[in-house]
Amino acid sequence: MLRLVLVGPPGAGKGTQAVRLAENLGVPNISTGDLFRGNLSQRTELGLAAQRFLDAGELVPDEVTVGMVADRLAEPDAVKGFILDGFPRTIAQADALSELLAEDDHELDAVVALDVPEDVVVARLLGRGRCDDTEDVIRRRQEIYRDETYPLLRHYGHLLLTVDAVGDIAEVTERVLTALSSRT
Ligand code: ADP
Repeated sequence: MLRLVLVGPPGAGKGTQAVRLAENLGVPNISTGDLFRGNLSQRTELGLAAQRFLDAGELVPDEVTVGMVADRLAEPDAVKGFILDGFPRTIAQADALSELLAEDDHELDAVVALDVPEDVVVARLLGRGRCDDTEDVIRRRQEIYRDETYPLLRHYGHLLLTVDAVGDIAEVTERVLTALSSRT
């Protein structure tokens, strides 16, 4: 049983690590970015409501995002734990998540921060070529990370495990697993 949040700037490798960690730890990986992109490609109402925010690199409003996460966490596979990738991204979302979990007498076990310098992440994103990876949108997402998401690291002080995320993929996964197993 593990309820884990992954935090890091866009381009830190959260998505890649979340998939590997989920497999290793036997819990589902819940990525809000993937959920939004899935809704968008299915042209659901939620996807259409989120589209202009995704295109601009802005945060999708909480009433949409929090509801989507609540629905996903209510699915049976999330009973055994989860890795959240891309949520929460603001203190308000963190509060909403605590409330959701508290309804079932649950709480988070750990928050892993993937630590990567900004010049490294921008270079990675420019090489990735997803449709919201234009330079302006990348910059906007970094700015939102600094202003809105970075403060979460302090907010989650007691749960926080900071992991150096520069290095190859497997090495970073090992560092996260080591940090998780050595947590007190
Ligand atoms: P990245 O980590 O590279 O920014 P994501 O796939 O996590 O990419 O997110 C892509 C976009 O999805 C964000 O720019 C934002 O528009 C939307 N999004 C994802 N998670 C959230 C969230 N927790 N709150 C609001 N919007 C979100």
